[in-house]
Amino acid sequence: MVDRQLRRRGIRDERVLAAMLEIPREQFATPETRVSCYGDWAMPIGHGQTISQPYMTALMAEALELTGDETVLEIGAGSGYAAAVLGALAAQVVTVEIVPTLAELARENLRRTGRDGNVTVVCGDGSVGFPEMAPYDAISVAAGAPEIPAALLEQLRDPGRLVIPVGGYGHQDLRVLLKEGGKVSDRVAAGCLFVPLRGADGWR
Ligand code: SAH
Repeated sequence: MVDRQLRRRGIRDERVLAAMLEIPREQFATPETRVSCYGDWAMPIGHGQTISQPYMTALMAEALELTGDETVLEIGAGSGYAAAVLGALAAQVVTVEIVPTLAELARENLRRTGRDGNVTVVCGDGSVGFPEMAPYDAISVAAGAPEIPAALLEQLRDPGRLVIPVGGYGHQDLRVLLKEGGKVSDRVAAGCLFVPLRGADGWR
C-alpha cells in the first residue's frame, strides 16, 4: 500500500509514510471488509459512511505539514483510522463525530489499538468546530462541505493549516488553506469525493 498507492502517487513526507505503515488499517475496518482493507479505495463502515481511501488519508495528513508538536482537530472520526494516523504525527488530536454509534466505534478502535493516549473522540456537530480546545495548529475535515465553515477558520491558529473537501455531491476540491500573518491563502490539492458534511454549517 505504501509503495504502490502512496509513494508512487507522490506522497513524500517520510513521517506520513511511516505513520501509514505503523497504523493497522485492518483494526479499523469492519469484519466484512477486513480482507480488502489495504486496497486503493474507501470502504463502508456502516451508517452510509466510509473509511477514506489510504491515499486520501495520506494526502490530507501530508498537506498539514505536521512536525510532532501540534494540536490537531479532525472533523468526521468515522472508524478512527485517520485520527490514529494524525495521532502518530502530532502531539494531540481531537476528532469530532456526529453519529453517536460511529463515535463509539472510533473510541473502541482507538482503545483496542492503543492509540487513544493522545486522541480524543467527541460526539457532536463538527461543522462548528470544537471551541473548547481551540486554537488548533491544524484542522482536517473528512466530509465534503458546501463552503468553508467560518468557525473552523476562527479556531485555526495563526500560523495554521486547514484541509477540507469543498463542493457539491458530484465533485469536490480538496482545498488546503494556510493562515499566516493574519492572511489566508488557498490552493487545491486534488479532486475528491467525500461523504457530505452534515450539521449547522454543512449540508444540514
Ligand atoms: N476519518 C474517517 C472517515 C470519515 S467519513 C476514517 O478514517 O475512518 C466522514 C465522517 O464524517 C462520517 O463518519 C460522518 O458521520 C462524519 N460527519 C459528517 N458530518 C459531520 C459533522 N458535522 N460533524 C462531525 N462528523 C461529521
